[in-house]
Amino acid sequence: MEKKEFKRIGVLTSGGDAPGMNAAIRAVVRSGLYHGLQVFGIRRGYEGLLEGEITEMGNHSVSNIINRGGTVLLTARSVEFNTPEGVARGKAMAEIFRLDALVIIGGDGSFRGAGDLHRLGVPVVGIPATIDNDIGCSDYTIGYDTAMNTVKEAIDRIKDTAYSHERCSVVEVMGRNAGYIAVNCGIAGGAEACIIPEKEFDVGEDIIKPILSCRNAGKHHYIVINAEGVGKTMEIAEEIRSKTGISTTTTILGHQQRGGSPTVRDRVAASLMGAKATELLSQGISGRIVAMRGESVIDLDIEEALNMKKEISEDLIRTGKILSLY
Ligand code: ADP
Repeated sequence: MEKKEFKRIGVLTSGGDAPGMNAAIRAVVRSGLYHGLQVFGIRRGYEGLLEGEITEMGNHSVSNIINRGGTVLLTARSVEFNTPEGVARGKAMAEIFRLDALVIIGGDGSFRGAGDLHRLGVPVVGIPATIDNDIGCSDYTIGYDTAMNTVKEAIDRIKDTAYSHERCSVVEVMGRNAGYIAVNCGIAGGAEACIIPEKEFDVGEDIIKPILSCRNAGKHHYIVINAEGVGKTMEIAEEIRSKTGISTTTTILGHQQRGGSPTVRDRVAASLMGAKATELLSQGISGRIVAMRGESVIDLDIEEALNMKKEISEDLIRTGKILSLY
């Protein structure tokens, strides 16, 4: 592990926003100052790095943000940074501002960018933040718990009306590449069926059949969860309607899943991981991804971390199916 002395560090949020990113920024700033580092906020993710949107942050600059969703540093998706020339320009801008190291708060794509910077010799530390929980090296990612609670509340409300009108409701949740939100909220919301990217599905077998067996046992309201991008929500609803005759509505939860005041779990995870990132940098350690392993905060070599994969629990999927039987 190569060690250098870092005095001035930059922090940015990148990619999709996630509740708790502010808590992570706050932790990086405050723990960085505690360790005697100067901390600079980079606005608009890699886009702002390329444009030199960089200003120093003090303790007060992060007052009253731990409770707020979104990110006060703003976030963006940068097409230019996705090219070797863009990454080189990012490195040059960090040098102009004499930033010794960067803390990257974001998801998988942001970490690929962090890996590119690292390979060009820019010291980086990554903090996983995405509502999808789809970062292989970490059991938990900032924003996941808040998003799941938002979805749970929405399903509860939809269920009230589905019950009263004896309907089926197909609810589309986020998670284009990962079914963590869908499968957990399927269990928490008592869904009859759940479609996730990790498992092939058949509308007849996996949706119509469970709905009809519930109906035959006397049930009159049904919830189907569909992870965005897997099945087509409207088409699934139409198929349920035409094949069962059950009145079926659709709800696409969309971006409300990304906003909102972060839960305790997200605030604490963000605070612990933010503090760990600056602790590493204060010890001259970089090229690391901070991650959660159970309740503990660990750090991993960035190249190893980027290649790590995790699987959704089969037990969770199986239990969801068992508990939907009526
Ligand atoms: P997230 O971090 O939430 O997964 P994105 O996938 O949109 O979000 O990635 C955020 C940004 O990270 C992109 O807009 C791009 O600038 C940068 N990025 C993504 N993939 C790479 C890559 N392979 N190399 C360099 N930069 C990348």
